[in-house]
Amino acid sequence: MRVGSIEVAPGEHAFGYLEVAASRSGIRPSIPVHLFAGTEPGPTLLVQGAIHGTEIIGSIAILNVVGQLNPVGLRGNVILVPVVNRAGFDLAERGSRLDGKDISRLFPGNARGSVSDQVAYAYFKEVIAQADVLVDFHAGGRTAYERYVLFSEEGDPANPTRIEQIRRKLVVAFGLDRGAFFPANAFGANKAKEAIENAGVAQITLELGGGTGWVKNGAENIAVAERGIWNVMKSLRMIDGDFEADCPECTIYHAGVILWKPDVDGLFIRHRAFGEHVKAGEVYGTLLDPYTGDELAQILNTQDAIVIPSGQEWMTIGATSVGILGTVDRVEDRRTMDLYVGPELWRKQP
Ligand SMILES: [Zn+2]
Repeated sequence: MRVGSIEVAPGEHAFGYLEVAASRSGIRPSIPVHLFAGTEPGPTLLVQGAIHGTEIIGSIAILNVVGQLNPVGLRGNVILVPVVNRAGFDLAERGSRLDGKDISRLFPGNARGSVSDQVAYAYFKEVIAQADVLVDFHAGGRTAYERYVLFSEEGDPANPTRIEQIRRKLVVAFGLDRGAFFPANAFGANKAKEAIENAGVAQITLELGGGTGWVKNGAENIAVAERGIWNVMKSLRMIDGDFEADCPECTIYHAGVILWKPDVDGLFIRHRAFGEHVKAGEVYGTLLDPYTGDELAQILNTQDAIVIPSGQEWMTIGATSVGILGTVDRVEDRRTMDLYVGPELWRKQP
C-alpha cells in the first residue's frame, strides 16, 4: 500500500507526512498518515480526525489505536489520520486561517485553488479514494457538546444502495446508543459528501464530545471513540472479537428540528436536557448578554421532538444552530441485527 511517498509492506506499520500544498509564504500543512498493511485480504478502512481543528476526541482515540493495532493477521489495510486540518489544529481553530475555508466542504478539491483546496485535492486523491469505508470524527469544538453517529439520509429507505446498506450496519456496530440523519440539504448543499459517495466510499461521521464538558466527558468519549474504531474493524471482519456497545438498542433519529442561532450572539443557556421530549412552542433555551445578563432572545422549539445531544453550551459565536431535536425513525437491536459487512458490500463495484 502506498499514500504519496509513504509505502508499507504487508504486516507492517509505516508513518509519514503526505505533502499536500504550500501557501504563498511557504507554509506546508502536510498531513500525518499511519498505514497498517494487513497480511490477509480485506477492505481498506480510513479513520480520520480533526478535519475541523478543534474537534480532537477522535484524534486521541486514533493515536490509541495506532499504539495497539497489529498488522500481522489483519485482514485488509487501515489508514489512520489523527489530524487532517493541520492549519486549524495548530491554532486551535475549526477551519483554516490560511484562507478561511473548511476542508470538509471542498472535496474532491482543486489542485489550482487556495491552500485548503489543494489540501482537499491531494487528500481526496491519495487517501479517501483508496478507502472502502471512512470513519470521520467530529465533535462540538470548544463551545458545543455532541454525542451521536451521523450519516446521510437515504434516498429510498425501502431500497437502500450498497453504500446505504454498509452505513446502516456501521452506524449500529459503532456502539453508541444513538444515530441520526438530517433531512437532505439541512445545512446547505454538500458537494463534498457527494464526491466521497461517488468514489464508492461508505462514510459514517461521529459527532462526539467537545464543549465546556471537555474535561468531564473527555476520557469517556475518547474510550467510546476507540471502542467504536475496533467495532468497525470487527464489522468489516478485519479483526475478530465481540462487539461492545453502550446498550443493546441503537435508536436512529430523523434530526428534522434544527433550532437556528438568532441574529445576535450571546451566552446560550439550554433549559432542556438531552433526551427530553419538548413540545412545539416550548422554550428550549435563552440567549443572554454575557456582560449584563439581559435576555437577548428566547429560543422556542418548533415541533414536538426529542433533544439530541448536540448543541451550544457557551457563547454562540461561530455557531449556526443552538440545538437539534429529532423524532425516532427506528430502533435497531444489536442482539438480532447482522452487523457484519462482507466483501459483497464493501467491494467497490466497477
Ligand atoms: Zn466538525
